[in-house]
Amino acid sequence: MTAFDFEDEGLVVDVKPTWRVPRCGDCGRKVHGVHDRRQRRWRHLDLAGIKLELRYVIRRVRCPRCGVKVEQVPWAEAGSGFTFAAEREVAYLAQRTDRTTVTGLMRIAWRTVGRIIRRVIRRHREQRGDQLDGLRLIGVDELSYRRHHQYVTVVVDHERGEIVWAAEGKSAETLKGFFEALGPERCAKLEAVTIDMSGAYIKAVTDASPQAQMVFDRFHVQRLAHDAVDEVRREEVRNASPEDKAELKNTRWALQKNPWNLHDFELDKVTMVQRANRRLYRAYLLKETLLAVLDRKQINVASAKLDEWLAWASRSKLTPFVKLARTIRKHRDGILAYVRTRLNNGRVEGLNGKARVITRRAFGFHDAGALIAMLFLCCGGIHVAPTRICPFEVH
Ligand SMILES: [Zn+2]
Repeated sequence: MTAFDFEDEGLVVDVKPTWRVPRCGDCGRKVHGVHDRRQRRWRHLDLAGIKLELRYVIRRVRCPRCGVKVEQVPWAEAGSGFTFAAEREVAYLAQRTDRTTVTGLMRIAWRTVGRIIRRVIRRHREQRGDQLDGLRLIGVDELSYRRHHQYVTVVVDHERGEIVWAAEGKSAETLKGFFEALGPERCAKLEAVTIDMSGAYIKAVTDASPQAQMVFDRFHVQRLAHDAVDEVRREEVRNASPEDKAELKNTRWALQKNPWNLHDFELDKVTMVQRANRRLYRAYLLKETLLAVLDRKQINVASAKLDEWLAWASRSKLTPFVKLARTIRKHRDGILAYVRTRLNNGRVEGLNGKARVITRRAFGFHDAGALIAMLFLCCGGIHVAPTRICPFEVH
């Protein structure tokens, strides 16, 4: 620190690097040729609630290697208007609190928070080394954001319970990017991948890592079964008499629950369905039975029961279940792998729940990059400490 000023907006402190010869902001080498000078400011941590800015006449240098570049300063990343300490503080808050708290406390816009997090995460990842080392059991899933119009693909390490990779998109091509980053050697070490039964990701996995066991988790099978019941219900509503219509319409949620979780009024609804609509009740039983098969502990029992179920569903005369049976038969091996390995996506689903909350909070970031940085910040096993420093040591 060399001097300070009080201004309307707060306190401005003049600082300069401890080194004399400027360094290139890109490569860090000492450079003697100075191109020009310009006064700049960096937002630092508040001082007793007062906004504090650092001021320095920054030089642009002529680096023999990189060309004309802004010189390096020890307190901030090139191109950022915030000090390292301030950026760490923002990331610390963003990891732990909600949007209003971060923007209110730091007095910055949410989009600025997004840009800061991107820089913090990049620095973290550079320091931390490769997160993709040692992966054996992974999960792949998609998250929708911005009102479901856009997607990010997320790869989770089951063992560490962390998001290890994420990218915009949800195609086979998107996931291929992950396997390319992983490289053939580490691809060969993957033992199992939990995944959605829908096509795009499956192809990317079999292409890159054919030895890995694909596991179709209970949650995705459950979702398909619920969809099938709902399809039958809608069809029955369409064909029902006017007085039955209203009653059938209101059974949707009751039919999705486990029987032992039903409230009395929902139980009444299921009983009504049992009495009034055999087809819909059959759909309900098919769904419940399938989920019960997946909860079996012994693989040979589960395997036999699944075959019985497949035979029943194929003969059920309910088109959505005939279709579901076809899908399940095709992926039988991966579904039974769930029973065998118990690669329980409870953990991943928990992580997914968290990721979904973050996705909603990140609404307003306007780009996938900031959302992905936020996902890493909150679900990537990253530790950010709040900044506690001597006020005159700003780096
Ligand atoms: Zn350089």
